[in-house]
Amino acid sequence: MLRRALIHEAGPPLSFKNRIIPKGALPMGDMPLAERSARNLFAAGVEEIFIVAENGADWYSKLAARYPGLRLLPPGAAWLEECGDALVLLSDVLYETAALTLLLNEHRRDVQLASAAKEPSGICRLSGNKLAASLHEAISGAPLRPCDRLLWSRIQSPEQREEAENSLLPQIREADALRQVRREVLLNPGPATTSDSVKYAQVCADICPREQDFGEIMAWICGELSMMAGKPGRVETVLFGGSGTAADEAMISSCVPDEARLLILDNGAYGERLAKIASVYKLNFDIYKSSGAAPLDLAALKDKLTAGNFTHFALVYHETTTGLLNPAPELCRFCQEKGITTIVDAVSAFAAIPIDMDRDGFDFMASTSNKNIQGMAGVAFVFCRKEALEKTALYPMRNYYLNLWDQHAHFKKTGQTRFTPPVQSLYALRQAIIETRLEGIENRYARYAACWEILAGAVKKLGLSMLVPEEAQAKLITAILEPASPDYSFASLHDFARAGGFTIYPGKLSGADTFRIANIGDIRPEEMTAFADLLAGYMRSLGAAENRP
Ligand code: PLP
Repeated sequence: MLRRALIHEAGPPLSFKNRIIPKGALPMGDMPLAERSARNLFAAGVEEIFIVAENGADWYSKLAARYPGLRLLPPGAAWLEECGDALVLLSDVLYETAALTLLLNEHRRDVQLASAAKEPSGICRLSGNKLAASLHEAISGAPLRPCDRLLWSRIQSPEQREEAENSLLPQIREADALRQVRREVLLNPGPATTSDSVKYAQVCADICPREQDFGEIMAWICGELSMMAGKPGRVETVLFGGSGTAADEAMISSCVPDEARLLILDNGAYGERLAKIASVYKLNFDIYKSSGAAPLDLAALKDKLTAGNFTHFALVYHETTTGLLNPAPELCRFCQEKGITTIVDAVSAFAAIPIDMDRDGFDFMASTSNKNIQGMAGVAFVFCRKEALEKTALYPMRNYYLNLWDQHAHFKKTGQTRFTPPVQSLYALRQAIIETRLEGIENRYARYAACWEILAGAVKKLGLSMLVPEEAQAKLITAILEPASPDYSFASLHDFARAGGFTIYPGKLSGADTFRIANIGDIRPEEMTAFADLLAGYMRSLGAAENRP
């Protein structure tokens, strides 16, 4: 697997519309050539892109500032020795994305794609040792692989640019569109909608997960996840094959010593599940019960925490049952002051709500690959503050597969998980992390919130009601009270929505008849608008009046 790429801006700049610009800055459709390449490379699973620019450093440094993972390097610098094998593209080449797939599947370490007439394309994969010796020679000396059907062209003048924009670019768009996967918009609370690049990340050469390169991929995943959960060096991420409940069970079963007293907040199905897990392991625990539809009584909960001599506290950050956001940072910081260890189920909060475990007072935190990180189901992860994790080394081992310390210690020692990891889900997670890094967690939350605003607006306009007061919601999932009409059934609404390309979810809270709409995953505001229109259509079919005062 190639994890790095290089974009090479070689030769003199061009004059374009009275400006002197590097060739990679030439506009092509909706973005410049080099930016198109960078996006293609990230979508093909490249974690890091180096730019070597013989001119146009200013333009490239502005581009690099907009893309985490893109770095402008001075030509000939020592980094070439560390680069390793990489995809290498000249900045002036326009191509269909299948070119990158071809190269990723190549057995040869040095190869350049070419036309049937052996005209080199400037699209290569090159070995680290050749790159380290000389970038120019590595490119010019790479054996050619002729591909007569591949769409590509070098763009070296404004005239060529115009011609390519009018004729080649539409063909490339069509060729790339042929690979698109049918879109289903999942408005259930995870597994969430994924990008095509995340789906395609699973389709790659077989690998034995005991190989060192796969271990390096898992280590990279852990490192990147840790950086999303705290400051560098502060958090350890421990991976398991499993769903979100596996991460919850790993935490509860591994982080609470025998002599401890655990308090669990139960204000929804997932808090209740934490308590169920604690009961299975016969831990010494108590439950603080609260409504799933209303904010917590913080003072009462804090009183219980202090009066009850609790040593550990577990809660769900975002109760996916109802969409209620628990004030986990406030509660966990309070616990930290009292010396109480905190265990947070952030399964549906992580990667949407910005988290810093030190700042927020979280000792342990669970999440999973198929929610806001926008990967596939199958990987559970537990984030641990380093000192908190160290303490668990001597705690009793209550189960085998899900033991946090054993999994962590084994991985540190061997670079492998103890048992077979879910290889394809991990590849998808790797791609999802690349895309999360590109979007940024704050921007992701802003996108989710924009979708939620559209939904909430539609709900109000249609005279429906939300179960949880707006100010207590995380804006990630909305529990909506079912319409009173005798013609309503969840099944009919579900089927109506599914026929329109949207999957929705039933309610989960006992005592309130709701259906739930999540707005997490790779979804766009315009899709939520389309869903709002569809919901209005369904309501009309029930005879409900729109625009009720
Ligand atoms: N915790 C929370 C807050 C959840 O939302 C979920 C699933 O939706 C889980 C735990 C359980 O995750 P899984 O169904 O992947 O086991």
